[in-house]
Amino acid sequence: MKNPDANSAWAKDRDHVLHPYTDFTTFKEEGSQVIEGAKGMYVTDTEGRRLLDGIAGLWCVNVGHGRREMADAISEQVLKMQYYNPFGHSSNVPAAELGYWLASHAPGNLNHVYYTTGGSTANDAAIRLVHYYFTMKGQHRKKKIISRNDAYHGATYVAAELTGIQATKNSFDKVGEHFINHVSAANMYAKPDDMSEDAYCDFLVAEFENRIQQLGPDNCAAFIAEPIMGAGGVLVAPKGYHRRMWEVCKRHDMLYIADEVVTAFGRLGEWFASEALFDYQPDILVSAKGVTSGYIPLGITMISDEIYEVISRPQCEGGVFSMGLTYFGHPVACTAALKNIEIIENEGLLQNARDVGAHFQQTAQALKELPIVGDVRGYGLMMAVDLVADKATKASFPVTTGMGGKVFKKCVESGVIVRPVGDRIVLSPPIIINKEECDTIVSTLESAIGNEC
Ligand code: PLP
Repeated sequence: MKNPDANSAWAKDRDHVLHPYTDFTTFKEEGSQVIEGAKGMYVTDTEGRRLLDGIAGLWCVNVGHGRREMADAISEQVLKMQYYNPFGHSSNVPAAELGYWLASHAPGNLNHVYYTTGGSTANDAAIRLVHYYFTMKGQHRKKKIISRNDAYHGATYVAAELTGIQATKNSFDKVGEHFINHVSAANMYAKPDDMSEDAYCDFLVAEFENRIQQLGPDNCAAFIAEPIMGAGGVLVAPKGYHRRMWEVCKRHDMLYIADEVVTAFGRLGEWFASEALFDYQPDILVSAKGVTSGYIPLGITMISDEIYEVISRPQCEGGVFSMGLTYFGHPVACTAALKNIEIIENEGLLQNARDVGAHFQQTAQALKELPIVGDVRGYGLMMAVDLVADKATKASFPVTTGMGGKVFKKCVESGVIVRPVGDRIVLSPPIIINKEECDTIVSTLESAIGNEC
């Protein structure tokens, strides 16, 4: 046992906190690593270890930990006006200012924002808005959503059903089977070696088109996709994929939802990735995480002028748009977002993410030389390293090997936090990172993996 003192935070956490995505059998023995301090690129745990944060908390602490400016802005807003009813004709200044900034910077005419409490709730809101939109247009059957295998869209019931990672669904009931479908992920590592990138893209687009025909175009309302799939494996799609999927959507009067919960606010060197990097304009854009760098929870669901025009029409029965959260447009969360955006702008962090991200991707390619590294891929400050038992066949290790967990433990012993997702190591450091810190992450990972070869 790590810390037998029943009064320690470690014991209280182990006995009373229901941790997400956790194997309770080992958790009851080992508990968790309790983090009690965080500054810049580093966190410290209750055992006094100082660790380089290679995952920005959980893809979110873009401007780094423990920033005085963030604390000051948040506390000033708390003292000025910490909360008031956001329903109907009542609002607050930070929500309005953030809405204006988002409309000015989001792709195309995504000029309207619905605020939520995180990524899952923002995706749920997106689906409700899609359904509401087609109902208001009188297209009552056009309600089916197409998502992708291996996608991650969250943990509330609808977001969990949009998610395509099978392991997250075990033992939970389904509520959205009748309207949520999945097509293949765009997985360049898993594609047959003798298939070209273009041919693979053709295959994925044809599969999508066929699925729409099967379901009936009049029944298909929207497609949802992350610009780069995050938790599903940092999968960068073949060239032209998103643009072509978007074109298919347009042909069938379907909406394209970009889930930019991870990819926005600098992780890929842009405010938003969909248009800037992948050349398509989503009808709905969802984000969270980096919007406040995780200082306060906030989610955003942005919709186009066309959708707004339809959903703001008077309802026949004289009803109102009845969808609202108590913490919609929370003034403290919106203040945190505005200060976070100001920091990203003033410190040139988008450019830093581009420069350092390119260095990170290039340096990490060296890991491919290791006998158990199957693939190293990513873009900007998003990366995955796949650990495999056999490089030639890409065969996985038996689950009991726990290779990802072993590499994670070795990295932590050497002072760096990485994230094991099965036998895949995922990296997403704060976007304030410099090249030397990237080199430290890569060399630590190299030794940790080398140790297991
Ligand atoms: N969408 C994507 C792409 C995500 O990566 C996540 C979380 O990791 C979510 C949605 C869910 O966000 P949250 O955990 O804030 O509800």
